[in-house]
Amino acid sequence: MQPRDLSTHVPYEAGRGIEEVARELGMDPGDLVKLASNENPFGPPDAAVDAIQRAAANASSYPKAAHTDLTDALADRHGVDPAQVWLANGGDGALDYLARAALEPGDAVLVPDPGFAYYEMSARFHHGTVNRYDLSRPEFTQDGDVVCSQYDGERVVYLTSPHNPTGSVFSLEDVVEIADRTGEETLVVVDEAYAEYADVQSGVSLLGGDGAADHAFAERDDVAVLRTFSKAFGLAGVRLGYAVVPGAWADAYARVNTPFAASELACRAGLAALDADDHVAKSVETARWAREHMRDELDAPVWESQGNFVLVDVSDARGPESADAVASELQERGVIVRDCTSFGLPGCIRVTCGTEAGTERAVDAINEVLAA
Ligand code: PMP
Repeated sequence: MQPRDLSTHVPYEAGRGIEEVARELGMDPGDLVKLASNENPFGPPDAAVDAIQRAAANASSYPKAAHTDLTDALADRHGVDPAQVWLANGGDGALDYLARAALEPGDAVLVPDPGFAYYEMSARFHHGTVNRYDLSRPEFTQDGDVVCSQYDGERVVYLTSPHNPTGSVFSLEDVVEIADRTGEETLVVVDEAYAEYADVQSGVSLLGGDGAADHAFAERDDVAVLRTFSKAFGLAGVRLGYAVVPGAWADAYARVNTPFAASELACRAGLAALDADDHVAKSVETARWAREHMRDELDAPVWESQGNFVLVDVSDARGPESADAVASELQERGVIVRDCTSFGLPGCIRVTCGTEAGTERAVDAINEVLAA
């Protein structure tokens, strides 16, 4: 017996851990600056670490079923009903639940190009087919026309706001326009993994949540919003994310979720992180500073970003296919960035916003490598 034909399934390319890179370079991990996976450079909030340690003592018990204190806290935070919050093993897990709930075998989805790889993987796991919309280059502008002119009846359309790897956003007006033009048989997933760093109104306000009173748009049952604890809350290793879904979708969760969709340790950490306002504020403020600092100081074009990273065009300095070489040369200098070749951008690197010191070190190293 062999696995089914998985030849169209492209494995997810996760960034390498800092320990592994340090071993390869013969360096101390503390001497490396890892800016490759859009992680929080300040680590997890202390309160979340304490909460995990406390919960560990009870790790022999199963977690509570789907409806947890965390679901209630998130519902409160967003001003929605707890049944609209679908907890999951990271944002990735939430994408799986949405695909499972939305797709019949053979349904098509529409994903951004360049874009986050897991939309496509998740759709394929759920027997969907994949079409792509090209983001409008060279600015990677995201708007209703860019998406709708390439829409062809797909069942799910993925919007990333802020977008990975470009940092550009969709306005709420764009989201509404896309949802209107794609019709009520299409689910528009607004991936807001980086929302905390951005100045754009959340799609949650289209689901009856906070901010609904600030605009005249109607509540929708064809939009879902994705959020994660991996970025501003500093909990990427814990694997905790969620979708906020329309009220009409609430019942589907119990039918599609993996039993105990998020671990008790993760939920406790998440609850603690929701109260760690200072940690989140410091993370967001520093990222906002860092992305502007990189735009000002790097000797290469840098796209304007609303995320905790910037996309840097190294092609003028080093050639159109140079991202791989630039990333390797930076790694030799102890600075780890993302080579964007796998995003289809072989002349670009993506650099996560670090601490002040980490960002300054990255800027110096990048400028040195660009001048080589
Ligand atoms: N969406 C986007 C755009 C991302 O970049 C990521 C992580 N890199 C995710 C979703 C998922 O993150 P996680 O599974 O860690 O919550």
